[in-house]
Amino acid sequence: MKAEQEKTNEKSFYITTPLYYVNAEPHIGHAYTTLAADIIARYMKRQNKKVFLQTGTDEHGSNIEKTAAAKDISPKNFADLICGKFIKAWQTLAIEYDYFIRTTDENHEQQVQAVFEHLIKTGDIYPGKYEGLYCSSCENFYEKEELTDGLCPVHRKNVETVKEDTYFFRLSKYEKPLLKYYAENPSFLSPPKRAQEIINFVKSGLKDISVSRTKVSWGIPVRSNPGHTIYVWFDALLNYITGPGFRLPFKELEQRKKFEEIWPADIHLVGKEIYRFHVVIWPAMLMALNLPLPKKVFAHGWWTANGEKMSKSKGNFINPSTVVEKYGLDPFRYFIFKEVPFGNDGDFSFEMLEKRYNSDLANDLGNLFSRTMNLALKNLEKLPALEEHKEIEERILRTESKLKQDMENIRLTEYLNKIWKLISELNKKIDSEKPWEKIKTEPDKAKKTLSEISLYLIRIADWIYPFMPETSEKMTNFTATFKFQYGSKTKPPVLFPRMQCSKKP
Ligand SMILES: [Zn+2]
Repeated sequence: MKAEQEKTNEKSFYITTPLYYVNAEPHIGHAYTTLAADIIARYMKRQNKKVFLQTGTDEHGSNIEKTAAAKDISPKNFADLICGKFIKAWQTLAIEYDYFIRTTDENHEQQVQAVFEHLIKTGDIYPGKYEGLYCSSCENFYEKEELTDGLCPVHRKNVETVKEDTYFFRLSKYEKPLLKYYAENPSFLSPPKRAQEIINFVKSGLKDISVSRTKVSWGIPVRSNPGHTIYVWFDALLNYITGPGFRLPFKELEQRKKFEEIWPADIHLVGKEIYRFHVVIWPAMLMALNLPLPKKVFAHGWWTANGEKMSKSKGNFINPSTVVEKYGLDPFRYFIFKEVPFGNDGDFSFEMLEKRYNSDLANDLGNLFSRTMNLALKNLEKLPALEEHKEIEERILRTESKLKQDMENIRLTEYLNKIWKLISELNKKIDSEKPWEKIKTEPDKAKKTLSEISLYLIRIADWIYPFMPETSEKMTNFTATFKFQYGSKTKPPVLFPRMQCSKKP
């Protein structure tokens, strides 16, 4: 009872994904960020931490307005449709989120309006005139020198010259405070290789940014000037505080306490293309609101397919649900983090997935588990207790502390590499010590080999849980109910049936 009480007052480990823009259906890129958040969240829960994982959809902006109009439906109906696909995809991928926020939620919209009015009062938002080059797909203005061959650097599309009355957010005021925050919180800009570019960008001077539109009707209206709608990025970024219950003002102490149990975020996970929004504009907005800043913003790379950014029009669009249907959930969750170091770019191919499936999963882990457990069933009275094997216990503790560091620093690939290095060592051990032969001549030695490998497998089952919850559970259920029988016909579960195929789903 006491422990439970302590847990309610403890600050949650708060991790977010970006809100996915509803102009596209969920693809591998979205799945990548969301799975990473789920993996970290599951790990933290196993460490007995209170966790709050938030994801959701970003639904306003001219781009949605245009796409919906082309389909002859209302923007809200269009957003409902795509949002439903995201929710379904996260079910398929077993994402355990705590809150799914939509920027069209009434509460979110009201809080965004309240923040906007508040910042007009404090002078952080002020009216003016804007002329700039705008990419409607990015919902973002560009400087001439930022364009690639005169085109949007992300979409390689034409940008429009837009001139309109607008409200500005006084970003320039936060140049020095931001640089100070980066310097004092070196793990805020993550991974470390992304830091210098941002620091240089801020040092080169920040300009105030336009945060309202008069020509976009599908957006949240400015309360005191409804001819303006609020810039979609300004609206969307606020989800990270409106979701966990930010209110302006807080009406009750309880409301504030609940919010402060979650905020600030421990990790914002984002794709590298939206990093600047999250490490420059977002912290400046929070400073303007006098709120504490997130502890870490981590940018990962892009998945390409056949070397190109995935898109429906290019015909290289990979739907995560299709991959799961064909290969199973755990192999997919494993593959995308093992294949390419999290933080770098990677190229998706079914051939590589099949190769990893057969080598790392069916062969290395699956085969080790089934060989060891089959022999253990026939020859060990029970699975040994870890306390009886001090040396192994110590090694397991050392490994666990390294895995913890990897997870805390979002080195997801290194985390898996450490486990698979051990698996490969155990496979060598069983190959060279041949317990199936030795059981006749040196039974004690053979039993020792089997006991040791079993002990590691029990821990490995636990370590892989964040990435492969189903496999982890299968292994754990078997070892927990292990029962020795003479001439046993019981078999350990086949973790990864071999696959022979090279056909695209
Ligand atoms: Zn663009």
